[in-house]
Amino acid sequence: MQIILTGTGTSQGVPVINCKCEVCRSENTYDKRLRTSAIVKFQDTTLLIDAGPDLRQQLLAHPVERIDAILITHPHHDHIGGMDDLRPFFFRQKKPLDIYAGEETRKAIQKKYYYAFDENPYPGAPQFNLIQLENRAFTINNHQILPIYAWHGKMPVWGFRFGNFAYLTDIKEISEEEQAKLQNLDVLVLSALHHKKHHSHLSLSEALALIKKVNPAKAYLTHISHEMGKYEKIKKILPKNVFLGYDGLEIKT
Ligand SMILES: [Zn+2]
Ligand SMILES: [Zn+2]
Repeated sequence: MQIILTGTGTSQGVPVINCKCEVCRSENTYDKRLRTSAIVKFQDTTLLIDAGPDLRQQLLAHPVERIDAILITHPHHDHIGGMDDLRPFFFRQKKPLDIYAGEETRKAIQKKYYYAFDENPYPGAPQFNLIQLENRAFTINNHQILPIYAWHGKMPVWGFRFGNFAYLTDIKEISEEEQAKLQNLDVLVLSALHHKKHHSHLSLSEALALIKKVNPAKAYLTHISHEMGKYEKIKKILPKNVFLGYDGLEIKT
């Protein structure tokens, strides 16, 4: 399995428009972050996790032949705002794209992309086949996916485990029961916003505490704000099995 972090930035991306901080002015490409998204590739299957507003750029940078399904974590714009740009895959694959999402996300997609659900859709409109996520394992082309249920402030958010790899973004709280699904991981991708406390995101210290508790062999941080600090500076203060994610990072398990 191969995982590509196609975006590792928080909702405004990094640099933030008009911001003059040292991170936003940095020339290091590791300090430039598109909105958070990932590609998960098996030999015969390609999945996308989230489809935010930078999707087009991300798939031009990391071309994939086809997309078998899109897993959506939650309905915030930075995770669903690029779904119209999935049209080339719909045109090529000639069938509605399978979108796995929780109930709130399904409603948000139907509202945001109302024209895709018209009875007589405009011929160029994308078509989505919305599939309800339940809190139990399911398969796509025989690959087992275990959903993980967590909280993003007051909003439910879904993470996913594929074999010994798990991906959890935009979380703040996760029950002991759901944490049990994060045992014996080779790789955990986990969101960490910045250093201060936040109502709906784990801070760096909260993310590190959760990583220490579930103890994956390696963890990569994502959904990072410009307030985290520069890549070169922060990577030096992390525990030895924890790495700052960056756009384009490829992980093999
Ligand atoms: Zn987000
Ligand atoms: Zn969010």
